[in-house]
This record gives sequence, structure tokens and C-alpha cells, in this order.
Amino acid sequence: MTYIDNSCVVYRMGREAQPVQTVSSGETVRIQTYDCFRNQLMPSAATMEQVDFDLLNPATGPIAVEGANPGDTLKIEILKIELDATGCTEIDQTFGVLRDRVRQPVIRRISVSDDQIHYSRRLTLRMKPMIGVIGVAPAGDSVPTDTPGNHGGNMDCTLIAQGATLYLPVFVPGALLAVGDLHACMGDGEIAGCGLEISGHVELRLTVLPAASHAFPVVVDGQSIAVIASEPSVEMAWKTASRYMYEVLTKDTDMSSDDAIMLQSLAADLAICQTINPQATVRMTFPLDYASAYGYQVL
Ligand code: CA
Ligand code: ZN
Repeated sequence: MTYIDNSCVVYRMGREAQPVQTVSSGETVRIQTYDCFRNQLMPSAATMEQVDFDLLNPATGPIAVEGANPGDTLKIEILKIELDATGCTEIDQTFGVLRDRVRQPVIRRISVSDDQIHYSRRLTLRMKPMIGVIGVAPAGDSVPTDTPGNHGGNMDCTLIAQGATLYLPVFVPGALLAVGDLHACMGDGEIAGCGLEISGHVELRLTVLPAASHAFPVVVDGQSIAVIASEPSVEMAWKTASRYMYEVLTKDTDMSSDDAIMLQSLAADLAICQTINPQATVRMTFPLDYASAYGYQVL
């Protein structure tokens, strides 16, 4: 297995970034990641004022995948997410709908062990490890790693978790995948702008699928197919997510247009991934077994 440590990180996803490693299609890679603060908040004396904001959202990579060309799809199987022992989360007056209620910035360092998050003496949270930032180089200009889009990026989608498969469109030769911003848990919507930010490792199997499936991110797990849309507003993002799902249902199944619309009303779920990053991210999920009844095949 190819190992890629966190000594090479990028802050922009783009075609000009030099790959740190080139892997074959079908290979599994183990990737070490910083947390979204580049671990700057981990020392117990660290404060938000000391944080160098130019170092936020480091993504390890980029990794080139042999044979990936514009118009292909990169299949990313998330085989494992392993978290370090302690993460952190914070609230402050600059982020989220409740920022006017924040009296002063608060940082909490929270330990994670035995599949549990030790939030307080009174409460242990369930572990829901996920990848916040995962993306390829976009078609045009490079995009900062704090920004989500059709190339992936800072989607903060809780479905991007162990056991799921993420499909991203390939826009440049080699795809140029970069990964970071793990969370031990995060609520959908990421209300105060922070998950339980934590460093760790991920193991991904990367496979090039010739020909595009879609020009936007798709996540498939045992239960559902999800499409992910990032737009300047939540309003725009949910409309786009619905159109993306319509495209999946009408192209990847033999469902009629009428069924694709009717079944969205009957069975699809919209959820807000996040509203904090430079674009809002919304996903729509549709039950996998319903799509399979109309011939959907997991690639
Ligand atoms: Ca994030
Ligand atoms: Zn994060």
C-alpha cells in the first residue's frame, strides 16, 4: 500500500500542483492528514488569535492516478478512517447563525478513544468519522481548499465516511486528488462552523472509470445514492441537488422522467451539509434499493 504522509499539503486544488505521488488505478493509498487548523489549536495554550489563517484547511496531496483523463470518473472507496487521540472544536463571533450569542471564543479539546468521543463528564458522543475536504483539480482556475464545488473540496458531507464510495469527475490528467479535514463527528449543517476537527489517516482505493458518469460528486453507500451540490446560497444548492438527482435517475436507471420527478417527491431526502464555507453545500439522497428496482448498477 502506498503511504503518503502529511509533509506535502496544498491549500488550493488546481492543475498546476505537482503530484506528491502517482498511483495506478485500483491501488489503495494510506494518507496522513492534519486537522483543518493544521493542528495549530492542539497545544493547550493555543488561542484563536494565534492561528495563522493562511494555514487553514491543508489537504494532503495531490495524488495523481495513472490513466485518469478529463471526462473520466474517479471512484474513491473509503476503506478506513483512523483518527488521532484528540481533536478540537471551537465557537466564535465570526461564524454561524448563533454568532451573536457567542460571548467569547471557546476552544474545546476533546479526546477520542474506544469508538467514543469524551465530550464532557455527562456526555459521551457517538463517533461518526467523516472526511470534510476531498477533491480533485477543477477544470478552470485553482480553487482554495476551503471551498466546495463540483470538483469536491470542502463539502463537509457526513456521508463521506468509511464504507462509502465517492465518485468525482476528472477534469485534468491524473485527477490530482487531495484530502484533509477529518471530523470525529459533525452535525448536518455544521451550525457553528466547526466539526470535531481531528488529524488522522484515511485509506482509499482509487480507480479510474473510463467515461464520465456525472459532472458533480456522487456518494453511494449501502443505503442510498447521494448527489452533492455547492452553490452561493442554500436555496440555489437545493435546486441544483434536485436537478443532479434527476440526472442520475434518468441517466443511470431506466426510470421515466415522470417517475424520476414523482419518486423524488415520494422518497428523496434533502439535507444541508454546511453553510459556512465560501459556498453552501446541500445533498439529496435517494434509496439505493428503489433505484436498483429501475436497473441502477453500482459501478
Ligand atoms: Ca470543513
Ligand atoms: Zn473541518
